Amino acid sequence: MPAAPLPPTAVSEPILSIQRILQQVFGYGAFRGPQQAIIEHVTGGGDALVLMPTGGGKSLCYQIPALARQQAGHGVTVVISPLIALMHDQVGALHEAGVSAAFLNSTLSGEEAQQIERRLLRGDMTLLYAAPERVTTPRFLAQMDSLQERGLLSLFAIDEAHCVSQWGHDFRPEYRALTVLHERYASVPRIALTATADTLTRADILERLQLQDARQFVSSFDRPNIRYTIVEKREATQQLLRFISNEHMGNAGIVYCQSRKRVEEIANLLCDEGIAALPYHAGLDSKVRQANQDQFLRSEGIVMVATIAFGMGIDKPDVRFVAHLDMPKNIEGYYQETGRAGRDGEPADAWMCYGLQDVVNQRRMIDESPAEEEFKQGLRGKLDALLGLAEATDCRRVRLLAYFGEASTPCGNCDNCLQPPDVWDGTDAARKLLSTIYRVQQSGGISYGTGHIMDILRGKPTEKVLQRGHERLSTFGIGAGFTEAQLRGVLRQLIAIGAVAVDGSAFNTLQLTDASRAVLKGDVAVQLRQSVSTPTQRKAKRTPAKATPKVPASLDTKGERRYLALKAWRAEVAGEHNLPAYVIFHDATLAAIAERAPQSLDDLQGISGIGVKKLEAYGAEVLRVVGSV
Ligand code: ADP
Ligand code: ZN
Repeated sequence: MPAAPLPPTAVSEPILSIQRILQQVFGYGAFRGPQQAIIEHVTGGGDALVLMPTGGGKSLCYQIPALARQQAGHGVTVVISPLIALMHDQVGALHEAGVSAAFLNSTLSGEEAQQIERRLLRGDMTLLYAAPERVTTPRFLAQMDSLQERGLLSLFAIDEAHCVSQWGHDFRPEYRALTVLHERYASVPRIALTATADTLTRADILERLQLQDARQFVSSFDRPNIRYTIVEKREATQQLLRFISNEHMGNAGIVYCQSRKRVEEIANLLCDEGIAALPYHAGLDSKVRQANQDQFLRSEGIVMVATIAFGMGIDKPDVRFVAHLDMPKNIEGYYQETGRAGRDGEPADAWMCYGLQDVVNQRRMIDESPAEEEFKQGLRGKLDALLGLAEATDCRRVRLLAYFGEASTPCGNCDNCLQPPDVWDGTDAARKLLSTIYRVQQSGGISYGTGHIMDILRGKPTEKVLQRGHERLSTFGIGAGFTEAQLRGVLRQLIAIGAVAVDGSAFNTLQLTDASRAVLKGDVAVQLRQSVSTPTQRKAKRTPAKATPKVPASLDTKGERRYLALKAWRAEVAGEHNLPAYVIFHDATLAAIAERAPQSLDDLQGISGIGVKKLEAYGAEVLRVVGSV
């Protein structure tokens, strides 16, 4: 039996009722951006594809329709999420808000799972979270059949929908099987959500999930509170240490590295420097991984050093920085990863350090992958866009948003806007470099790597140079007027624009390409960032930093004490409930309470983040804590 349309009363008052749910259940005063339009559409039974940046507020877009439709008698919303390790906290957060929810996954005992299945079959819950591989099992399909026959299958929410696409950066083959939802339950509305939005991925999601007729809600992808900075890599680890110790001591952050080995090294190094850091990568035992993730979510001020295996679905709102020690594969990956900073809307940093080797490595990984040439071309195009961003001398945000199809004006909150880089004309240097590669190859029929080419350019008579007679080349020493750093910058940009190829199968030798000619002829100007040399010495080794919680500047001394007392109380409650602290109350909510110094439950009403259930559960305690200061 198809789900019945909403009864007339609900239809005539949907706005009021979803508004009321927003306030009473979640404690928020107003919808953000397109939330209201999405929620109305889905509550009314429409299909939707929602593209919204991380932190934009996607969860409410299916949670409120789930509540509204359950109240109208439509039954259970099934949320498909790939994140088994996070379901416990997601469902915990709903329980805190007084919403009936459960999850089904392999962390449950057989008995627990059966109990939840029985509740499900009674339609006795608003939201059920499950992974795609479970949703498509015959057993689960049979249970959904039974629900549907009784009109109790309300809505499907497909979270992290980009997992269905090989163009997304988290492709999960299990997502492909989700077409069964459409085929088997054609009358049940579906909402698919993702923070990955490039056109290729979007088209792929629509096709794979057969959502061509769904309404698309595309938000602005701008994250104005995130400051983008991309620096030239010199001594990456020292640069990272300086960045954290100068700007983010005591803050929660994520450091992304390419390899597992590097993750371990950097985590150790940060710990040695008194920064509380933990490693996370796919090579760790799953128990250790889960424990580290829990600690990151539950304690304050932890830095997670991780491979890209970490982060999807992490909804910790107060991550203050995301640092990339190695360059990601493409802008989608970069944007998704950096987007994990500052979900609470407070200022946050996205910092990346990037160098020649990153370009070489990424190009080589594509060249050496066993994929079809056409697919590799797609990957190269995506890498080029990221290289363009890294080399940019103009606003980073304008470039990022342009990549997602959004026009914008310089942001004033990225490194290039705040400190416009000096630019120099590298055209002449580029031509000299290309001529050297050409001459060397011509003279002996073989190519050489970066070091040797640099030596010839700069006129260094090394043993290798002399042995091969390369000091007699007409280009020997023609680049002596440039610094090594400048020439490396030139080479990096030439590789970035494809005017030099690096042959990974032959000792990373440098080769000319079709695109070299235009540069050699002087048809293409090469504009380069001036390399600014940063001092290498750092402050003396610090004593391990105390995890002193940061206090909002808006609070006076008394308010500060209330805030700290509330934080201590929150930590206790979170510990008792085995949930991250922010699930109880966000920092911003505690700050608002501390500022208002409430005397009564009435005074607590209307503070953002305090819904009816939380007021009832914690109101008296909060008043006691505030009163005790
Ligand atoms: P996403 O899934 O899009 O990354 P979330 O759904 O986790 O984002 O929302 C990000 C944060 O914003 C959460 O802490 C959420 O509680 C908060 N939030 C969402 N919608 C609103 C709103 N209308 N008003 C205030 N806070 C909101
Ligand atoms: Zn800018």
